[in-house]
Amino acid sequence: MEKPHYRRILLKLSGEALMGKSEFGIDPATIKYISGEVIEAHMLGVEIALVVGGGNIFRGASVHALGISRATGDYMGMLATVINSLALQDSLENFFDIETRVMTALRVDAVAEKYVRRRAIRHLEKGRVVIFGAGTGNPYFTTDTAAALRAMEVGAEVLIKATKVDGVYSADPKKDPDAKFYDNISYKDVLNMDLGVMDATATQLCRENDIPIRVFNLNKKGELKRMLLGEKIGTIINSKEQV
Ligand code: UDP
Repeated sequence: MEKPHYRRILLKLSGEALMGKSEFGIDPATIKYISGEVIEAHMLGVEIALVVGGGNIFRGASVHALGISRATGDYMGMLATVINSLALQDSLENFFDIETRVMTALRVDAVAEKYVRRRAIRHLEKGRVVIFGAGTGNPYFTTDTAAALRAMEVGAEVLIKATKVDGVYSADPKKDPDAKFYDNISYKDVLNMDLGVMDATATQLCRENDIPIRVFNLNKKGELKRMLLGEKIGTIINSKEQV
């Protein structure tokens, strides 16, 4: 059997990744595709924790015009991530027959376990895919930060951020054809250049705890698996300064 490069990973998916070409919500073919990519990684024997965003359903920052406070909007956003987590859970279990657990930072007892760090680690050790919902449980944070936090808590060796582009660029490659691609960049440069691949809090947390971040294109089939098998795919963000 091919030997994976990592034993335990935390994979961050944005809510928008679930939309596919739709404007909103969850696209059936897309969630099945994403589940397939996760399963391929799981079949390598890698322990997988997932954090999914909520931007395909609701974002806290967009509520002002509705007369909703930012904090309430953020809680709504966190609940949106629970919806996505449940969708991913069922998709993984029904299409591919593996065991999963959803653990949430806000209690939603009827549908998910509450997050308990040691229990999450136990699930991972047993080979269950663990999906962390409701972000950090706190308003004014993001699911990127939740991903960094949970990666540290469960001892993931890497935080893998799935995106729509091949990795980190100096500018948005969809808008700027001269954007430079980085195959390796330091946390410091990401922060100083304000590259916006992850929010600054998440990047800083990874920097302080020396967890590498890998950024790759989820839309390229098989890339996650190849990356886990050690291929040089996407961008690695770590403490190494550019030479
Ligand atoms: N959110 C929050 N605290 C958290 C995580 C998320 O308040 O710890 C809220 C916030 O309103 C955010 C929304 O949940 O806009 C959805 O998360 P995010 O924007 O990170 O999702 P993504 O962009 O990854 O889809």
